[in-house]
Amino acid sequence: MVESANASAPEFDVVFRARRLIGPNGEGSGSVGVRDGRIAAVEALDTPMRGDRTVELAEDEVLLPGMVDSHVHVNDPGRSEWEGFPTATRAAAEGGITTIVDMPLNCLPPTIDPGALETKRGVASGNVHVDVGFWGGAVHGNLDELRGLHESGVYGFKCFLLHSGVDEFPPLDTAELERALRTVAELDALMIVHAEDSAAIEHAPSAHGENYRDFLASRPRGAENTAIAQVLEAARRTGARVHILHLSSSDALPMIASARADGVRVTVETCPHYLSFVSEEIPDGATQFKCCPPVREAGNRELLWRGLAEGTIDCVVSDHSPCTPELKQLDIGDFGVAWGGVSSLQLGLSAVWTQARTRGFGLAEVVSWMSAGPARVSGLRNKGAISVGADADLCVFAPDSAYVVDANELHHRNAVTAYHGRALAGVVRSTWLRGTPIAGPEAGAAPTGKLLNRGEV
Ligand SMILES: [Zn+2]
Repeated sequence: MVESANASAPEFDVVFRARRLIGPNGEGSGSVGVRDGRIAAVEALDTPMRGDRTVELAEDEVLLPGMVDSHVHVNDPGRSEWEGFPTATRAAAEGGITTIVDMPLNCLPPTIDPGALETKRGVASGNVHVDVGFWGGAVHGNLDELRGLHESGVYGFKCFLLHSGVDEFPPLDTAELERALRTVAELDALMIVHAEDSAAIEHAPSAHGENYRDFLASRPRGAENTAIAQVLEAARRTGARVHILHLSSSDALPMIASARADGVRVTVETCPHYLSFVSEEIPDGATQFKCCPPVREAGNRELLWRGLAEGTIDCVVSDHSPCTPELKQLDIGDFGVAWGGVSSLQLGLSAVWTQARTRGFGLAEVVSWMSAGPARVSGLRNKGAISVGADADLCVFAPDSAYVVDANELHHRNAVTAYHGRALAGVVRSTWLRGTPIAGPEAGAAPTGKLLNRGEV
């Protein structure tokens, strides 16, 4: 990357010149003019454009829209020793992400009423390096709060159909799910669902010990399949828009595609860890790989990739859900007692690109899954594309460079990740939020992220 200052009166604050750029219609070359934080022009590479400054991408760099990660557990306030807004958003910026949407649980209080949202916004304000939106929670006992949360600007509501892992975020039963979806349909909002069935999990063998196969048997595909079928039918009855979080069981793909063909309003995400790891290779006691639903077999992973290729899966987001090393129980390695969650916010783009390139996918597909897709599903209208009018959120990416992950060098609050020691392709050279560098050689220390409200442009 080379920069120069121009003497004549500038039309733009910044001009990016890229031999390779991923636009809404795929890969090409181009010049991108930024004015007042927005993309004001996208022109051919040789078009003369005067900027206050010009950023010339190097031969091995590609200009991408900033990634959008709509599934991040920041845990702040209340469990900020697990993660926090300054660390999570710094890690996001370093990983090429310019917008996150924060989950409503594992923080205290959980985001289940407008007051709790206000508390969280107060903690995040002035402390975020990327733009941050918020999900609200739909839990047992708060369904009368959904309208107020919606009016306060949440991007939708998250619910569980089994114990969430924390007592203060109780699941919905079948009748409550239906009632909540009726409200969601009325508001034209979005319900995002952790789809594992509590009865199926109760009847599965209990998770204990250090053997990964025993843990996998405790969270069977059937539990996911059953819950997803229930959500699809409830969405069909109510007309509500639903989103299946962190899909792990590839068995569910045909029924999701079938429901969608029938007109059910459903979108689906999966996560980098389900696309990267396979259960056969997870060592005994390696609880940094524990998450729910779990990482499954190699054949399952390949079917998830097919789900992406066929368009059944809309997006890939991190489900970054860290905790302290103590809660991961790394010393005893017991999958039954360790906290479930994979820490990966900073690594998602490289992790997915590493796997995608070996399967014949290009960067345009990765951008559609990790930037445009999550922006569309969440309703982030100004994000996820290099196009005129969008926020100038950009990532300068070197797809053919590589690195080995060292958990101690990441910006996450805790140095634990399932990717430690793995070689990943693709290096983020710099990240730009509304035309300002937030990662890379020129990034300032001051947080410049904004708190976002649904519907704001
Ligand atoms: Zn999650």
